[in-house]
Amino acid sequence: MKKRLIIVGSGLGGLSLALRASSNDWEVSILERNDTLGGKLNIFEQNGFRFDTGPSLITLPQVFAELFEQCGVEHEHLRFRHLVPLTQYRFANDEQITYPDTLPATAALLERIEADRGRGYWQLMATAAKLFELSSRTFFESVPTEIPSREQVQMLLHSLRWLPLRNAWGNYARTVDRHITSPQLRQIFYRYPTYVGSSPYRAPATFLVIPYLEAAFGGWYVEGGLYRIVETIVAALEQRGVRTYTSAPVTAILHRNGKVEGVRLATGDVLEGDVVVFNGDATTVNALLGMPAQPNKAERSMSGVIYLLGLRRRLPTDVHHHTIAFSSDYRREFDQIFEQRQFPDEPTVYVNVTSKTDPTTAPQGCETVFVMANAPAVEGKRWEQEMSMLWERINGVLERRGITIAESDVVVRSVWTPERFERTYAMPGGAIYGLASHSYRTAFLRPTMRHRRIKGLYFVGGSTHPGGGTPMVILSSKLAYNLILRYEVDS
Ligand SMILES: Cc1cc2nc3c(=O)[nH]c(=O)nc-3n(C[C@H](O)[C@H](O)[C@H](O)COP(=O)(O)OP(=O)(O)OC[C@H]3O[C@@H](n4cnc5c(N)ncnc54)[C@H](O)[C@@H]3O)c2cc1C
Repeated sequence: MKKRLIIVGSGLGGLSLALRASSNDWEVSILERNDTLGGKLNIFEQNGFRFDTGPSLITLPQVFAELFEQCGVEHEHLRFRHLVPLTQYRFANDEQITYPDTLPATAALLERIEADRGRGYWQLMATAAKLFELSSRTFFESVPTEIPSREQVQMLLHSLRWLPLRNAWGNYARTVDRHITSPQLRQIFYRYPTYVGSSPYRAPATFLVIPYLEAAFGGWYVEGGLYRIVETIVAALEQRGVRTYTSAPVTAILHRNGKVEGVRLATGDVLEGDVVVFNGDATTVNALLGMPAQPNKAERSMSGVIYLLGLRRRLPTDVHHHTIAFSSDYRREFDQIFEQRQFPDEPTVYVNVTSKTDPTTAPQGCETVFVMANAPAVEGKRWEQEMSMLWERINGVLERRGITIAESDVVVRSVWTPERFERTYAMPGGAIYGLASHSYRTAFLRPTMRHRRIKGLYFVGGSTHPGGGTPMVILSSKLAYNLILRYEVDS
């Protein structure tokens, strides 16, 4: 008889775990509290405008290809488009840099803006390349809280030679400052730890892998929008007979004598299973287990304020697919987010205009615009009461950096606050990436993937190992599945 696997949550981690398991003879059910599948990787469509409501940039496309190939998923119709150049940055001193996202093309930029033709930049990238190599063999391939297999031990021992790496083990911003002199290039570099919701001033220098992997493997978009990834996976799951239930919140994970038995839904229905995998925020699981809440002192990653705007006019051609309007004082901005737990008075604003490269996402002559600013994840905060202030500050920065969005041009609008994120995805404070990675401990020892006391209960997704972001949650599904095989099948 097939073993029954229940996945609570249909984020990319949950969906890709379902792909792996259903390729290997498990009976899989997915239960999602919302009425669409995909979790934060989701879609909003109105009047011919199509928005990705979450991720907008794909890095490490090879991780997606590997998933599809390993699970035999037809994906030829999914067109990943390499965006070159990737991002336009606009600074407070009116300078603009269109940042090339390939290592050779960066050389020309460095000639212009960096002392010593960017020697420090290349040193950082050389370190980051080794860090990436090290992570790919260790951190991405094994779970630090589990006893490693013999193969993993060999890999770890082999990798020890990388440990004396210079520049790799300090503070992120200070390491950047030691190697890069241009204030603009520094600010570009500071932004990378925000890809996982952390502050550059507190993140470890190992996060240099992010600018490296973006430069080495590119930044990508999926034609038709990133939700095509979810549609492709869901089609494959349907073919394999995986049962997906939407509008199906799980209210309890059932267990007896230290062994998982299934789940209870809000309707009172019970679904029995041999293994349960929780894809929601791992730090919240105790509420479903009927256990006291975990004393949680760890700091949460950032949330965001997002405006999805359908414009009935095109934006000027110098606004790119990805444009960043930087604040004038980045440190102050992060102090306000992480120390004062406030929305910054001058936020850095990310503008993502998919219709610049993909006309299918907007009606003709129109523009699909995703505007995002980082915000603190504060549990229970009533953001809806601050709506006019939020847009005033965001729009103020856009205007000062030369991006005008006329109110009269907005024909579609949907706003996401941290409060809406919290409510929709059951993530405390609306923290997009689970816990912040502000120390080596929180970066490397994330909430465990296997429950310590309840056999058969596992975790997958951005709040557990190896962390947030679309490629990482796909890797997380690989690690979770390997653990399930090790503890539920092999033993
Ligand atoms: C605005 C935004 C921008 C982002 N930008 C990028 C980007 O550019 N590039 C990138 O790579 N990543 C980006 N990310 C991060 C990326 O979206 C996430 O890391 C990833 O999609 C998370 O996947 P996950 O598997 O952790 O599941 P999640 O997406 O967190 O989904 C978990 C699901 O579990 C469901 N759930 C929780 N509890 C229950 C319950 N009790 N019963 C039933 N269902 C439950 C939730 O409703 C949710 O649907 C962004 C995210 C956001 C929000």
